[in-house]
Amino acid sequence: MNSLKLINIGQLVTYDSVKNEMVVFENTEIAIEGNHIKEVGQNLGDADQIFDCKNKLVTPGFVDPHTHPVFLDGRENEFAMRLQGATYEEIAEAGGGIVNSINGVRNSSESHLISRVKTRMDRFLKLGTTTVECKSGYGLNTESELKSLKVIDDVNKSHFIDMIPTFMGGHAFPPEFKNNPNDYVDLICNEMIPEVAEQGIAEFNDVFCENGYFTVDQSRRILNAGKVHGLTSRIHADEFEDSAAAKLAGECYSISADHLMAVSDEGIQELAENGVIATLLPGTTFFLGKSEYAPYQKLKEAGVDVALATDFNPGSCHIQSMPFILSLSCIYLKMTVLDAIKAATFTSAKSLLLNKTIGSIEIGKKADIIVWDIERLVQIPYLVSDHPIQTIVKSGEIVFTS
Ligand SMILES: [Zn+2]
Repeated sequence: MNSLKLINIGQLVTYDSVKNEMVVFENTEIAIEGNHIKEVGQNLGDADQIFDCKNKLVTPGFVDPHTHPVFLDGRENEFAMRLQGATYEEIAEAGGGIVNSINGVRNSSESHLISRVKTRMDRFLKLGTTTVECKSGYGLNTESELKSLKVIDDVNKSHFIDMIPTFMGGHAFPPEFKNNPNDYVDLICNEMIPEVAEQGIAEFNDVFCENGYFTVDQSRRILNAGKVHGLTSRIHADEFEDSAAAKLAGECYSISADHLMAVSDEGIQELAENGVIATLLPGTTFFLGKSEYAPYQKLKEAGVDVALATDFNPGSCHIQSMPFILSLSCIYLKMTVLDAIKAATFTSAKSLLLNKTIGSIEIGKKADIIVWDIERLVQIPYLVSDHPIQTIVKSGEIVFTS
């Protein structure tokens, strides 16, 4: 088995599962054997390959637990429309928005989509993301949803990055079901979910529960159908207004409730009582030019675990950078830098049920590591538009050097 040793680490910042908190080690080393971390400490034994970190900062790779990367083209035209005053909702009502992406996916070959998604994964990895959750949800018929999940599976097999697949047939109502939305919910529950489960190409099942999208009753049906077929629930909840979606997340034991810009106090209580992780997406609030960010302090005070993600998608948030999400989280959510790093590594891994294997630099975990070109943690959010990443180790291999 190949071994690699990182020496002269100035500062190592990671979650510590024994102490249950973030820890900072000075002047340390990491020994890696094969894909995994063998030891963390000083004066570790010899290795096949030695990498000198030159007294710089080292952190775990980012885990991005909410993205929509399977689409054909960007939607910069709509971005331009918004600059002239149209809202996201108005663009959607005018037949734009997600419909463009649906047509793109439905009319694309698998190989065309694979090449687009692969390019996006290259960029995620260069930005320090070593594991990324990827949703379907721009196909919205059985064939194109399965095609989207197949694309995720194919790229995952050939790419260094780890992609975690989520089925999201419940992303929006496709135009052909505009007048009979319950028939589309039937299609998701009776045809799509069983077929997705049969093929074993998704781990999670997500739905956009919001006034004007899927109602609480429709969302409940979709999440329960997924559970019957072994898919763990996630939910897009209370993004534009309080739609009681956070309450549903608690009721359905969803692993994560995402967005939550408009969550009620009652909804927050429900998340806390049922151990639902709040995945906050400040990039979307920023990209849509809105001023109301998710109530991080309230969530924290209620004892809700908070994760961070990009929400990368062609419409409401074309951001792939977790370092930039850290800047937004510190500035707008008022998170401390340590809390933000924890939310973007350990807690985000937990929201993907992967906190036993990734999300921190600890013995036995996968060696997914960022060597930064800076000395101090606070410089990550402080540098905002810089991405001072020196080297990325993925599954024990050096896969990127700037
Ligand atoms: Zn989303």
